[in-house]
Parts: sequence; C-alpha cells; structure tokens
Amino acid sequence: MVLTTAPSARWLIKEAACYPETEPSDLRIDGGLITERGRLSPAPDERVVDGQGACLLPGLIDHHIHLRALAAARRSVDCGPPTVNTYDEFASILSNAKGDGWIRGVGYHDSVAGTLTRDVLDSIEPNRPIRIQHRSGRLWTFNSLAISQLSVLPAAARIHSNRYPELQITAEGHLFDQDRALGERLQMLTGATIDSQAVSEVSKSLSKLGVTGLHDMTPSNGMQEFNWFGQLQANGQLRQKLCLSGTIGLHTHAPTHWLETGGVKFHLHEHALPDLQESTEHVRRSHALNLPVAIHCVTRTELVFALSMLEAAGIHPGDRIEHGSVIETDLESWLVDLNPGIVTQPHFILDRGDQYFTDVPSETHSSLYRFQTLKALGLRVALGSDAPFGDVDPWRSMRAAVKRQTHSGRFINTEECVSPETALEGYLGHFSSPFTVRGLNVGGPADLVLLTRPWSEARDRLDSEDVRMTWCHGEATFEREILSDAE
Ligand SMILES: [Zn+2]
Repeated sequence: MVLTTAPSARWLIKEAACYPETEPSDLRIDGGLITERGRLSPAPDERVVDGQGACLLPGLIDHHIHLRALAAARRSVDCGPPTVNTYDEFASILSNAKGDGWIRGVGYHDSVAGTLTRDVLDSIEPNRPIRIQHRSGRLWTFNSLAISQLSVLPAAARIHSNRYPELQITAEGHLFDQDRALGERLQMLTGATIDSQAVSEVSKSLSKLGVTGLHDMTPSNGMQEFNWFGQLQANGQLRQKLCLSGTIGLHTHAPTHWLETGGVKFHLHEHALPDLQESTEHVRRSHALNLPVAIHCVTRTELVFALSMLEAAGIHPGDRIEHGSVIETDLESWLVDLNPGIVTQPHFILDRGDQYFTDVPSETHSSLYRFQTLKALGLRVALGSDAPFGDVDPWRSMRAAVKRQTHSGRFINTEECVSPETALEGYLGHFSSPFTVRGLNVGGPADLVLLTRPWSEARDRLDSEDVRMTWCHGEATFEREILSDAE
C-alpha cells in the first residue's frame, strides 16, 4: 500500500497497550506529537487504526549505524560468510559480478581465502577495478587495476592536489582507515555521486522494522554529511530521525525534530594506537564544547586505552564505549568508576559466534559482547546494529541478546542472556541518552510502532513480522500490506 499521508495528518490509535502498560487505551497523533491519551472518540478528519489490543512501542532507535556505508552496501557484492565461505565461491562471485566497471565487495573475512592481497584479486579478475572491504570495515584491498586508477588524479583535480591527499595503499594493496579520502577520490574518478536512491531504499526497510531513529557513528562525519542527510530528509528520501556523531568539526546545531548532532567519535585501532596524551587532549577539547565522546573498543587494549583517556580527561555524562566487544572482569571496577555508557551488538554472537570458537581463545568467550552482567554491575547498555558491518534488523539482535546462540546452534556465555524487555529497551532510549527509556507521553513526539499482537506474545517471538505500523514524528512510514484487506 502506498502511503499518501500528509505530514500533518491526524491519527487516532484505538485499543493499543502503550509499552510497558498492558491495558489497551487510545492515543491521538496531531502535528507530529502525541496530543491525547485515554478513551477517545474519532474526530471527523482523522484516520482511525484499531490496535486490537496489540502493543504500541516508542519507535526503535538504532544507536550505532553507518547509513552511507549501509546504502553503498546495497550496491555491493557480499564477499563473506555466510554467503561466501571458500576461495572458489569468492572467485566465482567476483567473476560473475554484474556490470563492467568497479566491483565493490564487502564483508570479507580471512576464513574465506586467507589474507586478501592485490595478487589474489589480480589472479581472479585483472580486467575490472576491484575493491574489497574487510568485515571490520577498516581495511580495503584493491587489485592492480584499481590501484593504478586511484593513483592518477584527473587533470582538473591536480591544480588542487593538496586537497586530495595521496592514498596510503601498501604493496599488498591494502588501505587502512582512509574512507573519506577514498570516497572523494572515487567520486572524482568515476563521477559517482552518493546514491540517494539507495538511502531511500534503506530507509524504507528500516521503517518496516519499526526503526524511527538512527545514530550515525561514522568517524568522518562532518558538516558535509550533516547537510546531505538534511537534504535527504527534506526530500522525503530519509524518513528516520537522525543524529550524527563524528568529527569535532561537526558543530552543535540547534536540533530540529529530524536532525541533530551527537558527540565526537574516536576510532581506536589496537595496532596503531594514537598518542595517549594527544588523544586525551582531544577528549578534553570535545568536553569543553559540551560534546560527549564515543570510543570504538573491540579489544582489551583498546578498552584500556579508552578508559585511560576518560580517566585523565574526566567523564561527560554522554560518553560512550562503542561495541565493548571484549570486557574482562579485571576491568569492571574501573569501568564502573568512570561509568561511560556502552553501546553493543549482541547479534555478533549469532553471526560471528562460530568464528569466535575458532579465532578467540576459549578463556575470552565469557568476555564477549557482555550484556546482562554489565547491567547487573549498574552499567548502562544500549544497542545498535553497526550496519552494514552487522545485521540491521533490531528484532534479530534482540533474539540474539536473549538466546546467545550461534548459527550452528552453539551457545556463548549464556550468563549474558537478557530478558526480552531488556533487549527491547536497548532500542528505546533517546539519542542523547540511549539508556533512558522513552515513554509515550502527551506532548512527546509521535514516533511509534504498533505491533500485530500484545507484548506478552511478541516477547516470545521478537520478530520484525510483528511490526504492523510505524510512525515517525506523526508520519506513517510503514503500514503492513495485510491491513488493506481488513479495511
Ligand atoms: Zn561502527
């Protein structure tokens, strides 16, 4: 069903139980806000939805996503498990890639064909430029043709060559952590503009999952991205509220209903850690501007570095550890003292868990993507997909948080299993305070998800198929097809 609802449309949702309440009541939406709750009669100009006693949730917020990369991934070849598991499958998927220009592969993992190099890619496909992104999102590998194309600046750009720094591609064809520069270079070479159509498709699929808010945590986010996303929202191509964290140059703006800025993102990399003193200074500068920091920590060393920075610079209430992939018990009291929030991804247990059995020493398994025991320590935990590096479906992630089961059916540290409510509430916080659950209060924004069933049933399924309708700031952004029969 095509939605033609005007932004100002009025809605009356009858007989829906506002989470965490269990008794159904009625709720009115007007001008983007929840304007009334209780026993309400339809007004002449409003659309009525019979909730049939089902659950009404605040719209889900994905607290850690990379929206542009997710849109780009829709135009890419999936090169990693579970789609691609062997060298032969990898070679075949590249050889059969559609089109005749650049091939962009994503999700590569060393278990497919070892460490990827330009030689490996050359032997598979020397005649099209190829770039393959590692599953970590931080490493690109190019074939020789790609490298030679990237190394030549077009004549027009040579005048401003200082604006286009040399890409530091190694002899093996590797490029670490230079996505902004790579993106600019590719745009110049291929004239490729960022695909707003792909963002629109992503946005639609997110609405279908009940997602009404996205916190984009891409470290390179700056004013350029802020303005671009704002444009997509104005065009109706992006129908989620958006918060951007990124560079310190991403100034704080007066927030609108749809677009705001978060904090400063720090991307630590265990093998190339920055200077601790300088990084601490950067944290101080951010805090002085009242900007919280969000620090990428996937290893023990990165967590120790992050906590050292926070301890030296002092803590801002909005400071966050991103991922917290490995949190060992001896660091708990330090973590509790500083008390940064933690935004994690339980679905990596599902999607990567079998790999962890191979790659991660068994004594570390109890430290992987912890949830329940962190909550028990009084730490604040929220959830984000890390899409496109993690799966974008929050319901799937909730199931993973509840079950802690890998694809092959093994379990990883079931002490970390949480209740369906705790998992859900990982998505119900605010942009600025992901750990405080939003209520459905009169005067608040109408960011809502109506399910097809009561929470008492939905909690046992945690299935996106149970999302019946989604509203973002009073606009219906998804309505399940099934409804048109009933009406
Ligand atoms: Zn990320």
